Amino acid sequence: MADIRTDWTLDEIESIYNTPLLELIYQAATVHREHHDTGEVQVCTLLSIKTGGCPEDCAYCPQSARYQTEVDAEKMLDSDVILSAAEKAKDAGSTRFCMGAAWRNARGNKDFDRVIDMVRKVTDMDMEVCCTLGMLTDEQAVKLKEAGLYAYNHNLDSSEDFYNRIISTRTYEDRLETLDTVRNNEISVCCGGIIGMGETDRDRIELIHNLSTMPSHPGSVPINALIAVKGTPMENQPKVPWDDMARMIATARITMPDAMVRLSAGRVNMSMEEQAHCFMAGANSIFTGDKLLTTCNNDLNEDQQMFERLGLTPRAAFKSEKNDAQEEVAAE
Ligand code: SF4
Repeated sequence: MADIRTDWTLDEIESIYNTPLLELIYQAATVHREHHDTGEVQVCTLLSIKTGGCPEDCAYCPQSARYQTEVDAEKMLDSDVILSAAEKAKDAGSTRFCMGAAWRNARGNKDFDRVIDMVRKVTDMDMEVCCTLGMLTDEQAVKLKEAGLYAYNHNLDSSEDFYNRIISTRTYEDRLETLDTVRNNEISVCCGGIIGMGETDRDRIELIHNLSTMPSHPGSVPINALIAVKGTPMENQPKVPWDDMARMIATARITMPDAMVRLSAGRVNMSMEEQAHCFMAGANSIFTGDKLLTTCNNDLNEDQQMFERLGLTPRAAFKSEKNDAQEEVAAE
């Protein structure tokens, strides 16, 4: 079985990344079946609970207040709207519910108290709850953890060098600090990136290197293909080829064998055959639902048909913890 390593070198990752595609997919599929039930895919739903008006300047994001896009600034959704979205997601087969807010950092006001309340209530529905609320203090992380938060998403997006060219309002170091805060509070880290923003292969390799040499690997690694949204500085970026996604996913799978590797944004532009290659390459998590924050996502019926045709089944909630508990009992 492939070892879990956090001492990967850039050269090693470069060599994996540059392996001819079919051989790379074969190697990743081998690691995947050693560490996971193949054919099992985690189904997640992502809801934007506070849309638009964000003070940050992420060049890919239609929610930044600095760009003229079709996304308007809205107030935080009412609690009953959020809870009914979580129920609907659960009924449709999701086991993880992610709530995203377009904030620079998690607020210290009543909106944050409402997030805490939502975390508690959705966790009580037996779903894994994830939040993405921007930068987080230790005190906020403690409160989220106490409410039952399972995971916190905070993406590195790209290499440090490329990150500094597309975002000026915070640093890579800020990002890493929040990730440390999340990890230190024993909340599962969800951290990945975006390709197709004009970065080089080297930037992608550095991103995978930064993720796979963290003190422990993120529990989930979302790999996103840019959705070029009109009005953002990246509106004219070309569509990401599917094999670039498969290559990133395979490299993430080989270097972070236990992580859930999520085929995330951009799936809407992929055929079933292209997605199948990504599942072969080690992707074992997707987002379902009409929207991914503010951009379109795949049709639920089509996803259900794809699961049937590819022989995929949804993964149960809290499976990692159940496996760990079983291993502890067996060891005793
Ligand atoms: S990616 Fe997040 S932080 Fe950046 S502009 Fe969009 S909502 Fe704000």
